[in-house]
Amino acid sequence: MNPLKSIHSNCGVFGIFGHPDASVMTYYGLHALQHRGQEAAGIATSEFDPEKNRYRFNIHKDHGLVLSVFSDPKILTDVLKGESAIGHTRYSTTGSGDKRNNIQPLRVNFKGGHLALSHNGNFTNTGILRDRLEDEGTLFQTTTDSELALHLIARSREEHMVDKILDAFRQIEGAYSICILTDDKLFAVRDPHGVRPLAFGKLEESFVFASETCAFDIISADYIRDVEPGEVIMIDRSVLESGKEESFSIGQAEKFKHCIFEYIYFSRPDSMIFEEKVDKVRRKLGKSLAEESPAPQRISDDEKKVAVINVPDSSNTATLGYFNATVKTNRDVKHEIGLIRSHYVGRTFIQPGQDKRKMKVKTKFNTVKGVINNRKIVIIDDSIVRGTTSKLLVELINKAGPKEVHLKITSPPVVAPCYYGMDFPSREELIANQMKGDIDKIRDELGLTSLHYLSFLSLLKSVPYKHSRTDYCTACFSGNYPINIEGLEKMNKHQFDD
Ligand code: SF4
Repeated sequence: MNPLKSIHSNCGVFGIFGHPDASVMTYYGLHALQHRGQEAAGIATSEFDPEKNRYRFNIHKDHGLVLSVFSDPKILTDVLKGESAIGHTRYSTTGSGDKRNNIQPLRVNFKGGHLALSHNGNFTNTGILRDRLEDEGTLFQTTTDSELALHLIARSREEHMVDKILDAFRQIEGAYSICILTDDKLFAVRDPHGVRPLAFGKLEESFVFASETCAFDIISADYIRDVEPGEVIMIDRSVLESGKEESFSIGQAEKFKHCIFEYIYFSRPDSMIFEEKVDKVRRKLGKSLAEESPAPQRISDDEKKVAVINVPDSSNTATLGYFNATVKTNRDVKHEIGLIRSHYVGRTFIQPGQDKRKMKVKTKFNTVKGVINNRKIVIIDDSIVRGTTSKLLVELINKAGPKEVHLKITSPPVVAPCYYGMDFPSREELIANQMKGDIDKIRDELGLTSLHYLSFLSLLKSVPYKHSRTDYCTACFSGNYPINIEGLEKMNKHQFDD
């Protein structure tokens, strides 16, 4: 993932039931999901106290990366005891990222026991529901939309926990992949459109859930299937004994609307999401791009081969797809490592007069001059959002003296923000809007020889259609939002303190 991108996935979720080292497994799972949120991390566990014959909930969460939040191993072994756990990595979308209260898992105690929740996505009727609950006397502790779900569950008049959860989520609209921990149960919930991914797996006798399957690999869990759109899966002791999960439904949308950006950029290439390997789809995107926009030709044998380079790490896989497809057309190209990314950059200290963003790019990337100098360069990248990072990157490459710089993007121009769980800049900040969709203007602004975006049609042809209901959300490229976002306008008034 390119940490300088102006878009961020907002969260990674993880859940495990029936494992003696539940917190340690969750810790590793969150490590693998770190790319989905780097602002904060947390784990909650449910522990049975035989002496008091009741359950105790343990929780530890803080700002920072997983490694620093859980830097003291005693937190996992001595504090977070219990055989079931949920975890969360956070990059805020709704609610202030700075507020400690907003860090997940969120937890409440109510007459039915303890309840903790980890959420990836965004509810879109938050304003309407929040107004109603506040009118009825509910006091909110956080400014996140996730808290709504806890209140709706706790206030439900249904008798059984699973019915309370079904009751709550039948009132909520939007995008959500959620793990809920109660005293003696673990639930996984996915919205009826299946916008965000949520995988279901098994680790020996225990059951696990995670935003992406790379979190299963790190703990050697086996992927079973996805939590289906609109499905609620319940795991408890009797499920451990039978080995078969209990499945319920809050209703399924006529067409699924998986986030297409998960395949383009957010998810790790070693993950399987929406029942397909991300690596495979990302290579396909590169291949489609090569078919649409081939690399330039060498004009003589004296000229060095055209170099196809990736922007590490976000476009590594798509670049392979582009390069392999190009080689098959007998073009004289070479895949080169022309950009080096430092993985050890922390804070950047800016001197007076220095451009902060420029310094960030320079501390993160450097060019391999010998690869770039006096050569035609094709750069493959996944997206251009604000354009500021791309411009600085191209500036860096141009300093190494290439003959030509051709930038090829494995997605169409980003023209609209995301309301379903990704943190995007405003519509006005997007370079495609600033340049009124004029690709030549964007090319000139970025200092390129040429610029090509993958067409909308090719994007749609490059992603898999596993079921008759499979479809994709493409709102940030088209402005067509598949789930009603009107309720979000009301929500903004609740974010007075953000
Ligand atoms: S708007 Fe874009 S980022 Fe958001 S869910 Fe849709 S495709 Fe994904």
